[in-house]
Amino acid sequence: MSVVDAGRSHTAEDHQHHLHAEQGSPATIVLRGVTAGYDDRPALEGIDLTIRQGSLTAVFGPNGGGKSTLLKVIAGLLRPWHGEAEVLGAPPGDAARRIAYVTQAELVDWSFPVSVWDVAMMGRYPGLGLVRRPGPVDRGAVHLALEQVGMAEHARTQIGQLSGGQRRRVFLARALAANPELYLLDEPVTGVDATTQEDLMDLLEAEARRGKTVVATTHDLACAASRFHDVVALNRTVIAHGPSELVLDQEVLRKTYGGHLLVLGQQAVLLDDAHHHDEAAPGEAHHHEGQPRSSA
Ligand code: ADP
Ligand code: MG
Repeated sequence: MSVVDAGRSHTAEDHQHHLHAEQGSPATIVLRGVTAGYDDRPALEGIDLTIRQGSLTAVFGPNGGGKSTLLKVIAGLLRPWHGEAEVLGAPPGDAARRIAYVTQAELVDWSFPVSVWDVAMMGRYPGLGLVRRPGPVDRGAVHLALEQVGMAEHARTQIGQLSGGQRRRVFLARALAANPELYLLDEPVTGVDATTQEDLMDLLEAEARRGKTVVATTHDLACAASRFHDVVALNRTVIAHGPSELVLDQEVLRKTYGGHLLVLGQQAVLLDDAHHHDEAAPGEAHHHEGQPRSSA
């Protein structure tokens, strides 16, 4: 269950950063009238969205609302049926080397003997090409990234031995090691402990301050409200987009979540799918704790 306190306040520093990201910063992502989906079922319809350089943006909405699909379109992994998309000044996919994309359910064989170091080094591969082997610069970037996420001392650990939160840290390290201009992170802080969540958000905030653009999906409305500067409310279409303190009102939440929202005075409580499921690709096992998921 997620709770949003409509009366929360943002620090002056947040506000300053926000203005920095909005005023005249180049548009990192521009979607115009984008419709996309699977087979003949649209998951996104008529999406108009501009995200500027340096923004720290949360995409939130109900299960099946199209959050993961939106990231796939931006990453160039799913081609829109209609509309135009431009990412880092190019068609989606063309700027893949300048983007770090971390999927919601990492398709990893956890029993495969690959170390924490190896996974983080994967962030360097796009820049390495076919011939060049990792050099001191690559090793330095990997070491720094592992230090940033607090996993440097586990560099030799096999990923299969890590906790869920540690895996999230390592996949963020892979993204950091790539030194991308744009981070596309599908549920990066979902299902991790509070300390890890805060640590990862601190890192993402620091990246945004450096002028990197961060777009993350989240089920956690409280996290979206408190840690992200901008939010996109998504349910097939963009319901609202803007500074979290302006956008996250009861009306937007009601439109986004429909009847699954209970408003109690100043607080909005999500009743439905706030319990996260790790969405799995076809054929991959779903793991559920608690109630079964309705097929979205
Ligand atoms: P969210 O990430 O917000 O939960 P998704 O983008 O995963 O939403 O899904 C949006 C819609 O597209 C849902 O109806 C979902 O069932 C459908 N969908 C997602 N991935 C696939 C896929 N690989 N094949 C077919 N349908 C899919
Ligand atoms: Mg998803």
